[in-house]
Formats: sequence, structure tokens, C-alpha cells
Amino acid sequence: MHDDATAPEQSRALAPDWLAEPDDPNDLAAGVWPASAHRAGDGALVIAGIPAPELAREFGTPVLVLDEDEVRARARGALAAFGDAAARHGGRARVYYAGKAFLSTEVARWMIDAGLNVDVCSAGELAVALAADVPPARIGFHGNNKRVFELERAVEAGIGTIIVDSEIEIERLAAITERLDRRQSVLIRVNSGVHAETHSFLATAHEDQKFGFTLEAAERAAERVHELPLVDLAGLHCHIGSQIFGTGGFRESASRVLELHARLLEAGILGEDPVLNLGGGFGIAYTRADTPTPIAELASGIVDAVADECAVRGIDLPVLAFEPGRSIVGTPGVTLYEVGTTKTVTVGEGERRYVSVDGGMSDNARPALYGAQYSARLASREGTDAPVLSRVVGLHCESGDVVVDHEYLPGDVTPGDLLAVPATGAYCAPLASNYNHVPRPPVVAVSDGRARIIVRGERIEDLLARDAGIDPVPAVRAGEGEE
Ligand code: PLP
Repeated sequence: MHDDATAPEQSRALAPDWLAEPDDPNDLAAGVWPASAHRAGDGALVIAGIPAPELAREFGTPVLVLDEDEVRARARGALAAFGDAAARHGGRARVYYAGKAFLSTEVARWMIDAGLNVDVCSAGELAVALAADVPPARIGFHGNNKRVFELERAVEAGIGTIIVDSEIEIERLAAITERLDRRQSVLIRVNSGVHAETHSFLATAHEDQKFGFTLEAAERAAERVHELPLVDLAGLHCHIGSQIFGTGGFRESASRVLELHARLLEAGILGEDPVLNLGGGFGIAYTRADTPTPIAELASGIVDAVADECAVRGIDLPVLAFEPGRSIVGTPGVTLYEVGTTKTVTVGEGERRYVSVDGGMSDNARPALYGAQYSARLASREGTDAPVLSRVVGLHCESGDVVVDHEYLPGDVTPGDLLAVPATGAYCAPLASNYNHVPRPPVVAVSDGRARIIVRGERIEDLLARDAGIDPVPAVRAGEGEE
């Protein structure tokens, strides 16, 4: 043990209740890491057959590593889960990958290969999907403030579904479809009033928020769409939040939305094969304390509940649609960092080790934004000392710059070690910033012992190029690991 070692009782004093002290601080908790993750004979973390030190040498740190086979498998798994669950009731289900979780042309192609559709929520995401040759009919477009040019591009491209979010948007679409003389199919986003059991920033279906129509307003919106010559109402949409573990919220929300669905059917406002899209939000394990429901079980629970509600109302099961993001791409992603400095602080009876890494809130904003919890492990080797309560922090000038708030790491974590943070595949790269003029890291896909960049990392020169006061941009010496 090191001289400054923390006694176990001092470590525990500051640990939250949910964090259990591991027998082995090098173990890789099942469900938190990609299935391919394991430790090599020398103790290094291996993902899809590639040791972490090799990835760090080739691509530098930080780097977001995405296990391609696991992303693809999860996409196929989601489609099979919802498809099979619907088929048991004689119905059909579509799955849209929620591109906001992480979108690049590669990932969009993986989704199409797996039989999924792709959901976008800006002209930028739409451009990525189109650049990936996603068939326009397989694209859905979300957003509470889609700008006129974005709607025009979507209609011109012939995308499958626009999920309309406001009365103003409906009028904009009426004008655009007439101007372009194009038909457009839409879903109406309903805010069912159901609160998902999750962090309040992630719960998107209670009334006091910006998305969608209340149930009453949705009925009027449906009537308005029905009057429009070139806008076709395909059905209703509802998304209740994210990182949800149970089926209760989905059941309740589906029940309320089906009430409206049944009324619209009766009024002849919904046509053939109406769609009910219940959104995404299926939770994943960020730490071993999270116990998400397997997707097949969730799918059965939700679809069975919808089928029950339809039976009660004497209506056919609609074509069901779902929009998972994080549950497809979250777990397959692991971020590798290099440890720069460490220190131990004493707080009352307790002690905590601070481990600073070479990234932080610029590559993972979720802890600062939502208080999201993550876990971490040494990746270049196995530690030898007993576990100590640690906080992994970034390099930014901000005390809220936390990567992993609470984790037990081996007491011998030291500068130059590689640290891996799992479950960073979703909502990390898309939320990345250049805070403190820190370049955004690359995203590397790994599969079967091979690694390739799917999103290039930035260099300081890229950031200087945006500064209108710098011309020409001087060469900046690349950092270690940069090309
Ligand atoms: N659909 C909609 C409308 C969303 O807003 C979101 C996330 O915010 C998703 C789907 C995807 O959620 P998740 O990545 O949690 O599955």
C-alpha cells in the first residue's frame, strides 16, 4: 500500500449509499460495459479485441471507443423485441434510432443495415442521415421549433414522417406543402401528462414543458391537419422521458393517448394503418447500481399493455413505433482518458481521492447537466492497492467539471495510467463542447480487433480557424496522440 493510503472506513464515510465497495476494484460489472470488454493477461482492458493502451497510442486520449458489433446487435435486438411483441398480437412495430443520442454517417448506416429507421431533430442531423443514404422515407423529424428552412428541406427530401409539435408548425407545413406541391405525412406529438420516474430534466411528458400538445390541444390539431389537402395525419406520438426502467409510465401514457386515438378513429380523422409512436427512453446501466429491464421484457410489457387498452376500446392495435437512442448506443461506448494528477482530501471523518483526467465536461456534459452518475476502471493495467473512494474530474476551469462523482478505484492509480469510463456512447459526443478551447475527441469504431475513426477529433488549429481575428491560422504543435 502507498504511504498516503486511505483506510477503508475513511473511504466509506463519504460514499453514497448506492455505491457498494467492490471486492475487486478492477472488475468489469456485467451490463455496464460492452459484452466484448475483458482484461488481457497483463491486466489491460480489451474492447472488441483491442487493448486500451493500443487505442490510446493510436488515437490519443481522450477517445470515445464504440463497439460496432454491440451497437449493431442492440439495434437488431430492439427491432426483434418490439417486432416480436407486436406480432404476438397480430400487429407490427417499427423502430427509429434516435439520432440525437449519437449520429454519424457510419452509425446511420448500421441502423439501416439492422432494419431500423432514423430519427433526426435538426437540419444538421437530417443532413447526416441523407449523407449516409438513409432512404428519406425511413427518416422521422422531431423538434419543438423546426425552422421553416428545416421543414422545407424535410418535405423536399421526401422524409417519411414529421412529428409536429405546435399549431404554428402545422400552418408552416400547410404553406410549405402547397408551395412545393408535395404531400407530407405527420404524427402529432402529444404530451400525455405522465411523469417518467427519472431526473426532471429528462422527463418530457408533463404539462409544464416545451414539447408537444396537451391531449385536448392534440385533438384540435388533428382536426386541423385533417382539413389540409397535402398533410396526412399518420397517427399520434408521445415520449415520456429518458433513462426509464419500468413499464408503468409507458402503460399509463399509452392508455391516455389511445383514448384520443380511438376518438380520432371514430371521427374518421385517422386513416388506414394508424401509427402510435411511444418514443424512446429505455434505461441502461451507468453503474452497477442500475438494473435496467432487458429490452425484450420491456417491449413485451409495453406492447401487451397497449394491446389490452386497444381491446378495452374495441379498436385494432395500431402500427407501433419506438425511438430508442441510449439503449442502442450508450453501453457500447467507452471513453478512455489519461490520468494527469491525483490528490487526497480529508472531509471530516472521511477521505476522497481526486483523479484528474485529460478531458471532462467538454466531452461528457451529463454529470454537470443532470447530475448523471458514471463508473470508471483502470484501463492500462489492473491496480494492486485496495479500493479507495475516488472522484474522477476533468481539466476544465469549473469545479462542477466532474466525470465520475463516486467510484472506488485502486489506491495506486497514478499519473500516466489510462482510465476507462463505460456507458458513454449516448449523449456524450453530441453534447460535447470546446469549453476552455479544448478540442473535441475523436470517435473510434472497434470491431473484431480493428479500429477506425468514424468522427475525427479536433485540433487547436480547428478552433483557431473560427476566430475571425486570426488570419492566417498559425501551425499549433500537435499534442501527444494527435495526428
Ligand atoms: N424520442 C424523443 C422524442 C426524445 O426526445 C428522445 C430523447 O430525448 C428519444 C426518443 C430517445 O431517448 P433515449 O435515448 O433515452 O432512448
